[in-house]
Amino acid sequence: MTTFLELKEEGIKRFGEAGAWVYDEWKKLNDTFFHGNNKVGPIVWGLTMQGESLGYYKAAENLIYLHRHLLRPIYPRNDLTWDVGYMNKNLSSDVLLHEMIHQRIHQTGGWVGETSHNNVRFVEEVNRISKMLGLGVKARVIEKNISQDKVKRQAKPDYLTMRELFYFPYASRHSSYYQKES
Ligand SMILES: [Zn+2]
Repeated sequence: MTTFLELKEEGIKRFGEAGAWVYDEWKKLNDTFFHGNNKVGPIVWGLTMQGESLGYYKAAENLIYLHRHLLRPIYPRNDLTWDVGYMNKNLSSDVLLHEMIHQRIHQTGGWVGETSHNNVRFVEEVNRISKMLGLGVKARVIEKNISQDKVKRQAKPDYLTMRELFYFPYASRHSSYYQKES
């Protein structure tokens, strides 16, 4: 079992300040939202494995993966720097929080349902955390609806859509939240 400090040290070796920041932020979010109960694993910055997603949780390795575009808004060419000066901290923190929800669910029995976002456990976490963040949004599992041979998933009015679950909490923030830098 690798400890938090060992992992953080490894993160600093690979990603400098950004490596240190992401572990400190993980710890803060863990205490704030998960009673410190999540078990840490490697957190790395890199290119995405999943198209448009800004983060990814690989359960088998307890690995949280954050897109390096969060560090640098302009696509890096030959001069990639792991500089927190380029980081949107509010957005990076929200992406990390999202991946920590997956981590939490995986470490407490996993989920059953249609997708890793459209299931009872994820939706429960979204509702719990939305309240803590004061976002004023709520979620429920979105039912399949078959009409004219087409499968549709239509969220009930006033509940988060598939896309908003996929991008929780960042799709539910006011855009100005990411403009002022912390
Ligand atoms: Zn997700």
